[in-house]
This record gives sequence, structure tokens and C-alpha cells, in this order.
Amino acid sequence: QAKRDDHAHIAFYDARAEQIAREYIELHTALRQALDEQEFQLHYQPQTLADGQVVGAEALIRWQRPGHGLISPLSFIPAAERSGLILPLGEWVLQEACRTLQRWHKSPATASLTLSINVSTRQFHQDDFIHQVAQALQLSQANPRQLKLELTESLLAEDLDKVVDTMKALANLGVQISLDDFGTGYSSLQYLQRLPLHQIKVDQSFIRELLNKNSKDTAIVRTLLSLGEAFGFAVLAEGVETREQLNYLCQLGYTEFQGYYFSPPLPLTQFETYCQRHID
Ligand code: C2E
Ligand code: MG
Ligand code: MG
Ligand code: MG
Repeated sequence: QAKRDDHAHIAFYDARAEQIAREYIELHTALRQALDEQEFQLHYQPQTLADGQVVGAEALIRWQRPGHGLISPLSFIPAAERSGLILPLGEWVLQEACRTLQRWHKSPATASLTLSINVSTRQFHQDDFIHQVAQALQLSQANPRQLKLELTESLLAEDLDKVVDTMKALANLGVQISLDDFGTGYSSLQYLQRLPLHQIKVDQSFIRELLNKNSKDTAIVRTLLSLGEAFGFAVLAEGVETREQLNYLCQLGYTEFQGYYFSPPLPLTQFETYCQRHID
């Protein structure tokens, strides 16, 4: 009796594993096709000062999948990273972002904004990544200083010398470098002083608990700001959702914000309209 149940159990998991494998292959095929069919688009989330003045944007990818609607990066970026498709996809994001910067030069409301893109660790480690960035900038004639690359701490887990070299080469092109989701991963304070960083983004998980009485996150959020001051990089608070969070962060000395309190990520033309409405 027990034995038969066991078998049923195994058969169940086999079927489940098979289904996961099949879904993965289907997703991979669909993603490859989506790239050819140009079904990806970037949305733009404002990065602002406390009064709402827009100083930059983060480009966030979406997949307009026929019959499925708009798909979040959380449900396809991990698969794209595993399959290697993140490399052509990431290059498209880079080129599209540079085209957007070029377009923004034509309007006073957007001409001086920075634009941040997310760069996967695997993408960063490509031999020709620096060349890709240089070429995208050259083709678009975008100003390198307005392009910001968001990297994650997972990058720092191996071969730090090589990472530092690549970062320095990128910084020499004039682009800015930001560490995303800061505080959630592998951050050795010792490493920080070796990196040519322009910004860290304090992860939204720290902001979420900030006003909770028992939370220790105030200490962390305060410390990260002092770190920025000591090492000379800007510190942006991510995931700001309420006026209370904003006020508290201002009290702590924060000056740059991103989050639903100001705006969700918007399609390009809506973002541009938002900027028109928030001049000065
Ligand atoms: P991320 O880079 O940390 O981006 C911030 C995420 O938080 C975005 O989710 C954004 O929509 C969301 N967010 C913004 N404000 C708030 C807020 O106030 N509250 C909350 N709860 N969330 C907020 P999204 O667009 O779903 O992107 C998720 C992640 O997917 C990104 O996290 C990034 O790691 C990855 N991603 C997005 N676009 C790209 C891309 O072009 N390339 C790569 N490699 N990864 C990307
Ligand atoms: Mg990001
Ligand atoms: Mg982030
Ligand atoms: Mg994140």
C-alpha cells in the first residue's frame, strides 16, 4: 500500500518536472521570436528630487506578447539569463536607451535627464561589452554622461580585479555606474572603495519597513547615506511609495528618489508628458 503511494508520488513529480522543462523550452523559443518580432519595449520610471522635479529615469523592459498582454521582466529575465538570450536582449536595451537619450535632447523638459539601464552580470562579462556601449553611444550621438549602467552586487562575487578593470573602462567612456538593489547582496565595504561608482540605489526592501517602529532599517538607510558621503557617490532611495516614507527619508538627508509615490514606470510618450508637467 505504502509502496504504491510512493510510486504515485514519483510519477507526479516526474510529470511536474517534465512540464517545467517543456514550459522553459517554450518560453525560450517565444523569447527568441519576440526579439525578432520586436515585441519588447522600454518603460521609463522617473527619478526625482523631493519636490518631484525629474532628474532622470530608469528604463525597465516589458514584453508586449500577443495574446498575453504586457509581461513583467520578473517572469522572463531569469529565463533569458539562463539561456543566454539576455545577451542580444541586453544589447537591444542598450541601443534603445541611447536612441531615447538622443530623442530627449530635442526637448528642454528632457534634454538633461540621465537614463539608467539594468545590465545583467552575464552581459557585463562579455568580452566586447565595452565596445557595445561605445558603439551604441556613437551611433546615437547620445551624451555618455547621461547614460547610467545599473549593476548588481552579484557582480562582485568573483574576479573583482577584472570587474574593476571593466568598470574603469566604462567610466572612461564617460558613462556613470550605479549599484542596484544595494544592501541585498554581496557587499563588502572594502570593495566599495575600489569601484568607480557614481551611485548606489538603496533597495526597496529597506524603504518598505522604514516606518515600522521595531525596524532596524533606519540604521541601515542612515548608514548607506554616510557611506555615499564618505566614498563620494550619490545615494538614491528606491521603492518610495508614500508621503510618510518620503518625509522620513528627507529628514535622514536623502535627496533622490524613485517609486510609485511619484510615478510607476511609464511608456515613452507618457513619461515625456509627465516631464512637461513637472518642470520646476
Ligand atoms: P530593478 O532594477 O530593481 O527595478 C525596480 C523595480 O521595482 C521595477 O520592477 C519597478 O517597476 C519596481 N518599482 C518601482 N517603484 C516601486 C515602488 O514604489 N514599489 C514597488 N513595490 N516596486 C516598485 P520591474 O519593472 O518589474 O522590474 C523588475 C526587475 O527586472 C528590475 O528590478 C530588474 O532587476 C529587472 N529588469 C528590468 N528591466 C531590465 C532590463 O532591461 N535588463 C535586465 N537585465 N533586467 C531588467
Ligand atoms: Mg534597476
Ligand atoms: Mg533596484
Ligand atoms: Mg530589484
